[in-house]
Order: sequence, then structure tokens, then C-alpha cells
Amino acid sequence: VIEIRDLHKSYGQLEVLKGVDITARKGDVVSLIGSSGSGKSTLLRCANLLEDSQQGDILFCGEPVSWKGTGAGRHPSDRKQVMRIRTNLSMVFQQFNLWAHMTILQNVMEAPLTVLGRDRAEVEPAARAYLDKVGIGDKADAFPAQLSGGQQQRAAIARALCMEPKALLFDEPTSALDPELEQEVVRVIQALAEEGRTMILVTHDMKMARDVSDHVVFLHQGRIEEQGAPARLFTDPKTDRLRGFLSSTL
Ligand code: ATP
Ligand code: MG
Repeated sequence: VIEIRDLHKSYGQLEVLKGVDITARKGDVVSLIGSSGSGKSTLLRCANLLEDSQQGDILFCGEPVSWKGTGAGRHPSDRKQVMRIRTNLSMVFQQFNLWAHMTILQNVMEAPLTVLGRDRAEVEPAARAYLDKVGIGDKADAFPAQLSGGQQQRAAIARALCMEPKALLFDEPTSALDPELEQEVVRVIQALAEEGRTMILVTHDMKMARDVSDHVVFLHQGRIEEQGAPARLFTDPKTDRLRGFLSSTL
């Protein structure tokens, strides 16, 4: 679904991604781990074209992003393609970013109605079904401020699902939550993994990364330092940097 090849990204002089390759095939759950500042969020934002990158390829369902210009002047050249990719790679953020003035149901329906132009008659039952799926069907008419953090994050996940994307991108979905609320979000992500959703998951939660991923990528200063199946990577890290990182997260 998503293939990133040799991706380079700089902010001015600061090179944040120094040639990163990541592939998430249909049904794969790929976790990105690494210290603060290693480039994890940047990589997600480049993948769904929220950020430009200066070199390398991004393929969505086998279709390469077409660029105009090179280096710092490089931008995607096909607006329709950008829209197609963005709407098919739904992002869930650490801060849930729900619209405070809309009910939970309206939050979930908003993008399918306005961005995809779908009919309310078709979107509303789907939105309610996704809210049920994440366990907050009874909160449809509440406003975000009336929900706990864990419920708000599950609403944000329902909102992402309601776009019926080809893949979900999570950027530290549990980091803003108290431990007891974290678990309810982890369970939802686990269920999505089990039903074969394609996901890229940035997380500091090594237990979640181990439990839900098919593949784990350890980023260090904008490069992939080590990657592999979670069973191997977490029990038998090959590099000192990953070993150090894992012992610092215990
Ligand atoms: P964290 O675990 O803290 O979320 P991260 O791995 O997600 O870290 P990024 O947010 O991708 O790291 O940031 C990578 C580097 O890029 C950091 O050095 C950061 O300061 C820099 N950076 C990120 N966004 C910008 C920006 N908009 N402008 C300039 N520099 C940025
Ligand atoms: Mg980040």
C-alpha cells in the first residue's frame, strides 16, 4: 500500500531524514520506534504528503508520487493525486484534534461529507457503526470536552476509519493518555491489526509495538539503524544503539 524509497527530508540546513526505506504491504502493521527527534513524525507526514521531501520516491498502491522540481524546490505536481493519497492514508495524532464545537458524530462524518462529498444517508450509519466498533456508540451526541482522553482518541480513530482509507497512520496515539485510558486505545488498535488493516504506527509504547506489529523499524537520527520482526528485534537487538534505546525505555 505504501512504499517509501530512499527518502530525504531537510528543514533548511537540518537533514531530518537521510535516506529511509519503508514498505507497508496490505495488512501489514509497521511500527516506527526511536528517540525523540529521530524523524518518526516527519516520516509519517512525508508519507501522506503533509510535508514535502527533497529526494526519494513515495509509492501509494504502486503508483509513484509525481513531483515537479528537484531538491528544496520539489513539490507534488498532481493535486488530485495528493488528495487521493491524503484521503487514503488517514492520520491519528497524539492530540486527538477533534473539532470542539461539533458533536462526536459530526466529527466522524465531517470529512466523508465535505472532502469525499458522500451522502449523509450513507455516511451516518457508517459513522455510528465505527463509533460502536471503538466502543463509544453511546457518545455520538456528546461534545469532545465531555469525553475522557481515551474516548476522544477512540473518536479520532472512528473518524479516521470513516474515511475508509487504505491505511491508517498513527503518531503516538497513546502518549497523551493516562495509563488506564491508554489500554482502551491499545485494544482498539490491536483489534484493527487483527482484522488486517494496513497501519504505520509511531509509538513510545514498546509493549504495543511488540504486540501489534509485523515489522518494527528503529530510526536513529534520520536513518534506519535496525529493523525486523518484533519477536527478534525486542529480544535480540543487534546494534548497541537499539540495545541502549530499549534499555532506556524500560
Ligand atoms: P518525537 O518522538 O519527539 O515526536 P520525532 O522522532 O517524531 O520525535 P520529528 O518530529 O520527526 O521527530 O523531528 C525530527 C527533527 O526535525 C527534530 O530535530 C525536529 O526539531 C525537526 N523538525 C520537526 N519539524 C520541524 C519543522 N516544522 N521545522 C523545523 N524543524 C523541524
Ligand atoms: Mg513525533
